[in-house]
Amino acid sequence: MDEWNWRPDGHLPDLGRDEQETYAWQMDVTGLGEAAQRRLKAATVMVSRVGGLGGVVAMQLAAAGIGRLVLAHGGVVKASDLNRQLLMSADAVGTPRMGCIVDRIRALNPRVAVVAEPRHVTESNAARLVGLADVVVDCAPLFAERYLMNREAMRRGIPMVEAAVRDLELHVTTFQRGTTGCLRCLYPDDSTEWRRRFPVVAPVPGVAGSLAAMEVLKVLTGMGRPLLGRMLVADLGTLEFRTLKLHRIVDCPVCGQGATC
Ligand SMILES: [Zn+2]
Repeated sequence: MDEWNWRPDGHLPDLGRDEQETYAWQMDVTGLGEAAQRRLKAATVMVSRVGGLGGVVAMQLAAAGIGRLVLAHGGVVKASDLNRQLLMSADAVGTPRMGCIVDRIRALNPRVAVVAEPRHVTESNAARLVGLADVVVDCAPLFAERYLMNREAMRRGIPMVEAAVRDLELHVTTFQRGTTGCLRCLYPDDSTEWRRRFPVVAPVPGVAGSLAAMEVLKVLTGMGRPLLGRMLVADLGTLEFRTLKLHRIVDCPVCGQGATC
């Protein structure tokens, strides 16, 4: 069995007739047969945040038939969200973002169970939310949140797909304890360049979110080859795609020998 297969095939839920029909086309995809579809149904995936980037991840995972989504995103819909946060709607400005997110997920696939956390990830909820998941997808713009999810995912040995965008550039990689380094290995210190507000146009998080969702499907089913120990860096301005090799830091405080976090 491949190293990223997260659980054996025993005790997987059966697919109902309606699910067989809904997922018929994707069960023809190489590596995505019925056993894989049942794995997706059994899986819980956490996504934070669920904006321009995470919204695409959540919708694609809902469409693919993930059994349960744990979604964390706070605040209310603002006009300035609407250039990229495709789960929001113009008539919802001023209302909680999580209301839009849950409504859109349920409209697409009412079978998906949703654990809705209408606030961002903090020290007070990170362990609980990450602890529910088989895979975590980090789409947070701020390092404080990203480090919390990284710490909790590494503690529990839960794979974490890492996706980030800024301007026309995107980064995607997947961390798994024991196989790769972690976010602290990649970024030992908070980057001073990252801010809550950053330059972004919708196709960039759209592409990055699609790639991150694909990583989740690969991790959960064993199909393809996830970006373990590798980071895709793409510039959508020039359409140059590169894959960088990532290194593990032996004395990383989160995933290294004698980890202290
Ligand atoms: Zn590390």
